[in-house]
Amino acid sequence: MSTLTVLEPATEAVLAVIPRADAEAADAAVARARAAWPAWREVAPADRGRLLHRIADALAASAEALSVLEARNAGKPITDARSEIGMVIDTFRYYAAAPERHTGETIPVGGGIAMTFREPLGVVALITPWNFPLNIAAWKVAPALAAGNCVVLKPAELTPLTSLELERIALAAGLPEGVLQVLAGPGSTAGTRLVEHPDVAKVAFTGSTTVGRRIAAAASETIKRVTLELGGKSANVIFADADVAAAAAAAPSAVFGNAGQDCCARSRILVQREVLDDFLAQLGEHVRAIRVGDPLDETTVMGPLISAAQRETVASYVPSDAPVAIRGEAPDGPGFWFAPTVLSPVRPDDRAVVEEIFGPVAVIVPFSDEAEAVRLANDTIYGLSGSIWTNDGAKALRVARAMESGNLSINSNSSVRVSTPFGGFKQSGVGRELGPHALESFSEVKTVYYATGATG
Ligand code: NDP
Repeated sequence: MSTLTVLEPATEAVLAVIPRADAEAADAAVARARAAWPAWREVAPADRGRLLHRIADALAASAEALSVLEARNAGKPITDARSEIGMVIDTFRYYAAAPERHTGETIPVGGGIAMTFREPLGVVALITPWNFPLNIAAWKVAPALAAGNCVVLKPAELTPLTSLELERIALAAGLPEGVLQVLAGPGSTAGTRLVEHPDVAKVAFTGSTTVGRRIAAAASETIKRVTLELGGKSANVIFADADVAAAAAAAPSAVFGNAGQDCCARSRILVQREVLDDFLAQLGEHVRAIRVGDPLDETTVMGPLISAAQRETVASYVPSDAPVAIRGEAPDGPGFWFAPTVLSPVRPDDRAVVEEIFGPVAVIVPFSDEAEAVRLANDTIYGLSGSIWTNDGAKALRVARAMESGNLSINSNSSVRVSTPFGGFKQSGVGRELGPHALESFSEVKTVYYATGATG
């Protein structure tokens, strides 16, 4: 095997050198998973639940070390990393309760009884990105295991370290060999092979819409089940009757959190014209106050971008003649830094308005009335999340129903909870993660008819 050099984005220093998995490694992992599956699917539901609890306990015991590793490898503030690792633990606990609740139905039919079972799929491939490495892995791994599948997890090459730790921790907690394997290798080799492999029953992927399209096409060859969590260009709609101060205070973290590398980033801020100047003035104060710096400093709010390539991509949306209305701070020196930036006024067909930037760049788009707000919010190929700020409850619900988006918040920018479904409309993806929906998506419904001779 060749090696993979993992960098620390805040310093550009080498954090680890690890073996790089290739297509052959993917084949071997699928074969091991396939061999482990018959025994794993037979583990009694309560025992499977207990194992997931043991993994959660072991993760909790390593929470600080995992948080520091995630902060260093992904360049995210340590306070964010801690809350993400907290969610990882909560996700395992939530799905630890699932195996015993994964029930079927009985359905009245003539001549006997029909019943349904929720069967595991077999070997599932989970392909994750670098922005929330262990968090997004847990959203997929925990329900996949709870439903009785064997898992091959392929983290992004840039951030494989906490996923490798998860594998080690889960095995030490008692998960049988072959039930969860982590393949740290490139998408172009290890990832592609998993998607093509005839013994892989499902691919659950989070990443770019471009790669998502490729995966959907390749998975169709073997009619694999597919869950795709893809890009976004979410709207943060602020009406004039909102608490403008609250909306302005909350807007920066909704787009500059994780340095904007968040599929839910509210990167299009739609503001009703009457309050545009007031909103921009307040937003400017909050953006300029964002502390950008060392991820391990407890006071840091925003870290660097993940890589030099990502910084180059983000910079292409802010050319020298860009209408920069607000610019925050960024350190000099090594590290992939980019200052939080707000563009206004911007033409509706500007790339910065249309495309997912995946960096700390927001655009301001003014609107006149409710109809125009809805039209602009929906004027995108994406539909992942979004927010509505207003003190008119009926309007809030009207607009929430009209927005073509999977996850909306009213007077808040939060999108994701362990117990509620998460996923996109339109080209933001297919299927739902988290909540009860994820468990369903990692199983197949089987109908069994038992002839009893009865009529009915
Ligand atoms: P990708 O979609 O390329 O990567 C996501 C994951 O898919 C990684 O594990 C990657 O592996 C893997 N992968 C890549 N190509 C294939 C393939 N052909 N078959 C199977 N797996 C594959 O995202 P990038 O990392 O390149 O980021 C590019 C852009 O994607 C960002 O700028 C952003 O716009 C968007 N993005 C969106 C995310 C979201 O949460 N919705 C998350 C990350 C990115 P590897 O990287 O190891 O090669």
